Amino acid sequence: MSVAVYRVYPWSSVALYNGVTLLHFGLGTAGLIVAYDRWPAFALALGCAYLAFALVQMYVLMPLTVCPSCAYRTMSGARCVSALNVLSARIAATRPLDEFPRRGSGILCHNNLYLGSLIAPIPLMVPGLVVNFAVAGLALLLAVAALLAFRFFVVFKRTACPHCAAKGRCPNAQAMGIS
Ligand code: SF4
Repeated sequence: MSVAVYRVYPWSSVALYNGVTLLHFGLGTAGLIVAYDRWPAFALALGCAYLAFALVQMYVLMPLTVCPSCAYRTMSGARCVSALNVLSARIAATRPLDEFPRRGSGILCHNNLYLGSLIAPIPLMVPGLVVNFAVAGLALLLAVAALLAFRFFVVFKRTACPHCAAKGRCPNAQAMGIS
């Protein structure tokens, strides 16, 4: 079955992608603060550090380092699923398309930072909950895990990647068997 490739993703897809992203970061931050609330200063510092890292890698490093070599930067009037191609066009020069796979090369590549921002709250919350258990903290941990699964199985596999004009060069799409 052929799948439509979007030059312009619908706003509903953009809203879902960014809504799930911001909810994930927000619940991860809240979970870290709740898990360590026996030590309020540490909890706040950890939560704020995580939130800053997550937002910067997504909304600063991605448009500066990944988007410039994405197909969506080359298409007039295009809008990718995150809409970050629009932001990237304002803050970074375009790069050759064949550099796009570099997003997944090397230990500190953007793919690893991105995955780290999504996964990190889960292992970071566990020690805090072991010594400072709270039902709210456990609920936040489960919510972040559920959002991670939703992201991979619904947002990526259904909403974003099958319709993406960059999927031919994207290591993430290849890893998911989408081409
Ligand atoms: S194929 Fe998926 S992960 Fe890769 S650029 Fe497109 S939407 Fe992003």
